Amino acid sequence: VFSNLTPPKVHRVIEDCRQEFNARRPTVGNVGETYANTLNYTNHEINSGLRRAVSVSPSEVIAELTVSGLRGRGGAGFPTGIKWNLAAKAKGDTKYIICNADEGEPGTFKDRIILGKYADMVFEGMTIAAYSIGAREGVVYLRWEYTHLKPHLEAVLEARRKSNLLGSDILGQKGFCFDIRIHMGAGAYVCGEETALIESLEGRRGEPRNRPPYPAERGLHGQPTVVNNVETLATLSCIVSRGAKWFSSMGTERSKGFKLFSVSGDCSRPGVYELPWGITVDQLLETVGGQGAKAVQIGGYTGQLVPARQFDRRLAYEDLGIGGSIIVYSADRDMLEVAENYLEFFVEESCGQCTTCRVGNQKLLEGIRLLQQGKCSNRYLNDLISLSETVKLASKCGLGQASPNVVIALNAHFKDEIMARPILGAA
Ligand code: SF4
Repeated sequence: VFSNLTPPKVHRVIEDCRQEFNARRPTVGNVGETYANTLNYTNHEINSGLRRAVSVSPSEVIAELTVSGLRGRGGAGFPTGIKWNLAAKAKGDTKYIICNADEGEPGTFKDRIILGKYADMVFEGMTIAAYSIGAREGVVYLRWEYTHLKPHLEAVLEARRKSNLLGSDILGQKGFCFDIRIHMGAGAYVCGEETALIESLEGRRGEPRNRPPYPAERGLHGQPTVVNNVETLATLSCIVSRGAKWFSSMGTERSKGFKLFSVSGDCSRPGVYELPWGITVDQLLETVGGQGAKAVQIGGYTGQLVPARQFDRRLAYEDLGIGGSIIVYSADRDMLEVAENYLEFFVEESCGQCTTCRVGNQKLLEGIRLLQQGKCSNRYLNDLISLSETVKLASKCGLGQASPNVVIALNAHFKDEIMARPILGAA
């Protein structure tokens, strides 16, 4: 069937199958309902943050965000106030705000829920950002697989234009002009990396750029650009509305506020959970019905694989800083199969710029398959670990820098599963 279809149509067919599968699947935890129970989002009075922002100066808004301690929710955790400050001070003919809605990390679906239920909060956050740094144009870079959300988002944008929340002289502020358009991605995971996203927006292949310069100084079309994740933008609307003190009173010393976690895998209550930073993996598993797990992947495929003996570790930047994806693996999971699945994904999604990532991940995948077949020697296993370190060190972006993590974790925590297969040679 696929051989007769163009690539976009193939994606559409796959997406239709996925949606049908999800509709029929007897889930215990309904993602939408779980999310709707998250208090801080449902309690937000829409546009109260924007109204408060325009009642003070742009620099005061940035100062409030800086004091709140908000860190980007896309995974890297860069302080949002510092990023805005750089963009506000940068010189340019124009400035841009980009909402990174290219949520492609396996096991992550929190942004999809936010865009479906709380799009107004995301657009409110983008408008606050525009006011703060002096931008006139905003772009939502929407994951191709979320095409079904586009009509809804366009309708929310149109309603905001009619209410003078977008357009010219927003909320009566003379000269405050800003509008937002939606740009569809084309299905590449690497475009979640902000410079690859900008390349894609400019009409080129989505490949990460060398940094510096950082987008806050030279981003879209060479102009100062703030790229923020969907969750970051929605969260900052709450912060500007209720104040930095309220936000920073939650969480831990270096991880302020609350966080949304997408939880999937071998647990009885998968879904999106709003939880305070600092809870342990054990506490999280109890919440989602994942007790008895043998491992948990924290932070998506590029994150960390945590074995059961480390379940007292905390979800916070002080320990396991994460983007929000949690995948639970039960005792009967074959960890070599898990590693094979991860590496297949990275081989597929590598943009190919770096030899270490393009060829290295392929070699790691071949090595995992040799281990599965009992055709790997001890020496070759050691070479795989050494190759993993090289790929991490010499790759340009987060994909290559993190893709070998699973091989290293497998060797460190699940050596018994490797040794359960025949290993060739003693050396
Ligand atoms: Fe591309 Fe991989 Fe290099 Fe990133 S690490 S730039 S995905 S080849």
